Amino acid sequence: MSPLSQPEAFRQALADWYRTAQRPLPWRTDPSLYKTVVSEFMAQQTQIKTMLPYFNRWLQRFPDFDTLAAAPREEVLKHWEGLGYYSRARNLHRLAREYLALDPKPRTAEEWQALPGIGPYTSAAISSIAQNFPAAVVDGNVVRILARLTNDTRRFKHNSEAVKAVTPAAMTVLNSAAPGHHNQAMMELGATVCLKHKPLCTVCPVVHFCHSAARGTSASIPDIQRKATQAVAIDRLWILASGKLLLYRIPDDARQLAGQYELPASTQFPITPTFGKVLATKTRGITNKRIKETIYQAPASALHSQSSNLQWITLEQLDRITLSGPHRR
Ligand code: SF4
Repeated sequence: MSPLSQPEAFRQALADWYRTAQRPLPWRTDPSLYKTVVSEFMAQQTQIKTMLPYFNRWLQRFPDFDTLAAAPREEVLKHWEGLGYYSRARNLHRLAREYLALDPKPRTAEEWQALPGIGPYTSAAISSIAQNFPAAVVDGNVVRILARLTNDTRRFKHNSEAVKAVTPAAMTVLNSAAPGHHNQAMMELGATVCLKHKPLCTVCPVVHFCHSAARGTSASIPDIQRKATQAVAIDRLWILASGKLLLYRIPDDARQLAGQYELPASTQFPITPTFGKVLATKTRGITNKRIKETIYQAPASALHSQSSNLQWITLEQLDRITLSGPHRR
């Protein structure tokens, strides 16, 4: 059987499975347009289990578009602290304000794309889940499932090429009578069964439609060219004096992390090469970058330049300012 030649049977098998297998997530058990929007913003680049506590805290403080629109930006960013990719929080804040001002409100995937931070994927997810609009969601999960179902062994240069290639298949199998359920079922299947490294084909509800499972090729599909890893080394200073820590406030016009604080880095300030003992070494990955940060304990004299963005922060103030996740840790 093929999901493309028998889409009705495929939809039915997927829907039957999703009805009983879906995880009880707060935006599913008590849904609303606002919760769908917030969950879709938070779920980008973040696993569901990581974002759940953030989502619950967010809903307590900002329960609807009105509360979010009225909140100061600093507070919005503070509630996002630890989730990373802060442009999502800034866009969500702007979206709340613009959405409230819009009349009429967006109803289609295309209309949602006029709002901040909304691209083809998010617009399809919001309009289908919250408004029953027949748009197919195509993210990494859906690419993986559809490429495996159809045994698509083509090599793609990057994710967006793969998304473009499988979108017609996603539209063919879409259940236009219940697009929100269908899209969530596809995403759930990708997150819990059709896993990237070890697909659980023996318990898969659509295994009878899957051409790669029949041929034993699932593990190598989809074939998306990986970017070469780039190694980046950054030295940072830990300068503590009279109970205050010297931090750098990222300028408001910066493209990333604007308004947040971090330990001063050698990439921003010339630092004496022999400044003091190593307090910690941290390695983390962001997209294709492997970043190694070395944190040195040092006197203030290790820093040669002055900047109005360098600020002494008391330990009590640390709880109120927004630090990126790695810096807070
Ligand atoms: Fe994925 Fe295996 Fe299901 Fe095919 S049978 S869709 S490879 S989990």
